[in-house]
This record gives sequence, structure tokens and C-alpha cells, in this order.
Amino acid sequence: MTDQARRVEALFAHFFPEATAIGSYIGGVIVEGHGEPIEIISPVTTEALCAFSDAGAEVAHRAAIEAEQGLLRWRSFTHAARGRVMQAIAQAVRAESESLAELEMLVSGKPIRDCRGEAIKVAEMFEYYAGWTDKLFGEVIPTPTSHLNYTLREPVGVILQITPWNAPIFTAGWQVAPAIAMGNAVVLKPSERTPLTSLALARLAEKAGLPTGVINVLNGYGHTAAQAAIAEPAVKKVVFVGSPAVGAQIAAAAARLLKPSVLELGGKSANIVFEDADLALAAKGAQAAIFAGAGQSCVAGSRLLVQRSIYDRFVRIVAEGAAQIRVGDPASPDTEVGPINNIRQFEHVRTMIDKGVEAGAVATPPLGDVDPAKGYFVPPTILTGVDNDMSVAQTEIFGPVVVAIPFEDEAEAVALANASPFGLAGAVWTRDVGRAHRVASGVRAGTFWINSYKTINVASPFGGSGQSGYGRSSGVDVLREYTHMKSVWVETAREPTAAFGYAPGLG
Ligand code: NAD
Repeated sequence: MTDQARRVEALFAHFFPEATAIGSYIGGVIVEGHGEPIEIISPVTTEALCAFSDAGAEVAHRAAIEAEQGLLRWRSFTHAARGRVMQAIAQAVRAESESLAELEMLVSGKPIRDCRGEAIKVAEMFEYYAGWTDKLFGEVIPTPTSHLNYTLREPVGVILQITPWNAPIFTAGWQVAPAIAMGNAVVLKPSERTPLTSLALARLAEKAGLPTGVINVLNGYGHTAAQAAIAEPAVKKVVFVGSPAVGAQIAAAAARLLKPSVLELGGKSANIVFEDADLALAAKGAQAAIFAGAGQSCVAGSRLLVQRSIYDRFVRIVAEGAAQIRVGDPASPDTEVGPINNIRQFEHVRTMIDKGVEAGAVATPPLGDVDPAKGYFVPPTILTGVDNDMSVAQTEIFGPVVVAIPFEDEAEAVALANASPFGLAGAVWTRDVGRAHRVASGVRAGTFWINSYKTINVASPFGGSGQSGYGRSSGVDVLREYTHMKSVWVETAREPTAAFGYAPGLG
């Protein structure tokens, strides 16, 4: 057993002292799967950290049934009481943020300082939605009859949430907090590569006062566990964060059962730099936009569009900065960029760089012999000599690789930014206020930054269009995703003129 595996075992035992194995967390207990064994591999040592068995359909069924029970328990809480529980969850997450961050770092490979920040962000998500539990309510609607008509905003029911491996606990909090704030129960199916911090979050939430069954974590493969859960009658809505190809399969499976879905998918976001920008700031922003998290971010600024007059100079500044980035062991507090999470993704990133070079792009630095046996590390890489039609400019690489493309003027910059099937994010760097707003308005994106990149906050709506998906997963907008409106009619007259409202003939 490696040191890392021993730490994972100790941290899992810290959250689940009673558990004899890793499994799903359903109705307050760990439930082992009976499916295929799944090994979690350290992206640093490439050795096994731990293993568990795929939950499969039987455990998915149990998760849905327990979530229905959790829903009933949660509905017995007043709205204000729900808010207090949400606050208590936030405190529990803050108190355990170090353990959560370390577990996240070991399994995901993200630098420890990023993991610490993300754990605290999760606490902030529960705090934010704690304030909303009793602030979203129905209305009284004037009617032309003697009826009182009012609306109730009700929970949707059991929500299935399927999440990826790039920011596991952050995404779990981002999805779970608004859903439970509105009185729903969830079955959370994290990536089979990074399930442990989702399990820990569910346990912490229950210790903080959340009834059992409100958050259930289903651990296993997508094509088995997640697909089985979609088909469970108790599941009323499916929220998916992941790749466009899988998102399409999930939306189709849900639609066949007339279940609505929300899709948070990938991106190929344009980061546009004009000649009048503060170039030092823009270069730092361009590096953070793509290299933070080793580029494994849906909003990564993976297409750097640079005005031709400053193209060579600016790309050189970015490349010099990229060469200074500290890539290495995510456990070190100095590390800025860690490895790619898994071998499949590592091979995808390597293949995409090779394809770009074969098509005529120049890689800085050249990829050389990166050996995955020494960890799934890829150096921050800039591809120049790229045309926006090339596959490296159109396909999500999801690694520390940016394509730098020149443009002449504002019209061409906006046209290039929009020449993509995605619509998730984008940014512009300029000192011209009018241009900044014109470009913000012209680029198709769910989130857009002016002289900044990657700031997102739970209070602000987040989501995309096109291949980036549909629906919103934060801010006030998400609360509508997690509630249904019910219209209630009450007859107030002693002798109603029409017994059935608008049916005078029957009156
Ligand atoms: P993925 O689509 O392969 O997997 C995501 C989740 O779906 C995992 O839990 C997986 O087990 C499950 N899954 C896989 N196949 C399935 C199937 N047939 N049926 C049901 N579920 C299935 O994505 P990934 O490789 O884990 O993550 C990377 C992708 O996620 C990138 O495209 C990235 O842009 C995207 N992403 C988007 C956002 C966003 O908010 N827009 C955030 C993070 C990541």
C-alpha cells in the first residue's frame, strides 16, 4: 500500500468510522455494490488508492426509494428550519475543510491550495441557499370570479445529479445545495473516478442535522448505475454535468420517460485580447484562464484570440509566464498545476496536441516524451499557427493547452469567438469601455468576463447554450429549476354564481 493509499484509507475512516468498505451512501449507511470492481488510481503515482464495486441497478433502486423517504422527512421541516440546517452544513464543511481538501487532492490530483479554496466555496454555497429557503414563495392572483387564487412553490421531488471528476466536491455542493434548499431530495452520482468527497459531504450534512435519505450518493459507472437511476420512477428530474456526448445520451434517456433535464456541458471559450489592453494583466488572466486546474475546467479560456498587431509580443509574454508555472506534486503548497486526473484524459490531451502539430501548429514547449508512468503531467502548452477551423480549436481538450489565434478587428474577434458549437463562457481584455460591452453582448456565452477570467459565484447564474447545454445551475435562476408552481383555487362566495368557475352553463 502506498503512502497516498494509506492517507485515503485514514481520511475515509475519519468520515465513515463504521464502514468496512467504500460503497454508496444511502439512507445514512454505506451500501456496497455487487457490480464490477472499480479502482481509483492516483494521478501522481499511477498506483491504486482504493477500490469499490459498481453500485449497479439494485443499489440505484434502493437509492431512489430512500430518497423518496428522505423527501418526506425533509418536507416536515419548516422553511426556516431548513435554512438553519443548511447553515449547520456550511459550518460542518468549514470545520472539516482541511480533511475534505486533502481527500480531494489525493483523488483528483488538484493542487492542495485549489482544493482548500473549493472546500470553502462549498460552505459558501450552503450559506447562500440557506438564506433562500424561506424567501421564495407564491403569489395571490386577482381573478374575475369570487375565487381566491394563490400559487405554491413546491419541490420537484427526487433529483438525480450526475457529476464529473474535474471539481468533485465543488460540483457536488453547487448542485446539491440549491436542490435541498428548495425541499428536494437528491441521488448524487459522482464520477466513478472521484466519489469520495461527495460521500464525505453527504455524511457531514447528516451530522449537521439533515434527515437521512435527503442526500444519497450512488457510486458506480454511468452506463450502469446512473442509467438505472434515470429509469427509477421516483426520480423526477435529471441534472447532468459532464461531456456533451454523455449529456446527449442522458437527456435522451430522460426524455423517453418525459423527465426534464438540465445539462451543464463543456466549452471552448474565447479569451479575446485587444491591443489596447493592460497586457501584463491580460497575460496573467490568459494563463489562469487555461492553466489553472491543469485546464480541466469547463470554462477554461482554451481559445486565446489576440489582435494581430500585438500577437507575437503577447503570445511570447504568455509563454514566458507559462514556463514559470510550478507544475508538480499537488500535495505541495507551492504547486500551481497538478497532473491530469486520469490516464484516459491524459491520452486525449496528448493526442490532441499531436494532432494539432500534425496539422501544422507549433507547440510551446514541444510536448516531448511525457511518460504517464511518472504521473499524468502535461506542461502548460501554447499552440500557435492555429486556424479556428482546426480540430484543436473546435474540440474541447480539457487539459493545459491553449490555442492562440490572431484577429484583425472587433468584428472578426466576435465572429471567431462565435465560430464554435459551444456557448459556455468567454472574456475580453480592453481599456475601451464601449468595446468591452459591445463584445460582451456580441459573444454567445452563458458567462462573460471583462478584464477578468474565471470568477464565478454561487449568487450568479451559470450555464450554457448549444453544445454547452441548457438550464442554469446557480443564483436565483436555479431555484426555479428545483421548484414547481401549483395554482390553488378557493371559492369564497356563500352562493357561488358558477359552481365550477368558468362553466356558467353548469352553474
Ligand atoms: P463524462 O461525461 O464522461 O462523465 C460525467 C458523469 O457522467 C460521470 O459521473 C460518469 O460516470 C457519467 N456517465 C458517463 N457515461 C454515462 C452514461 N452513458 N449514462 C449516464 N451517465 C454516464 O465527463 P467527465 O469526463 O467526467 O468530465 C469532463 C467533462 O465535463 C468535460 O466535457 C467538461 O467540460 C464537463 N464539465 C462541465 C461543467 C459545466 O458546468 N459546464 C463543469 C465541469 C465539467
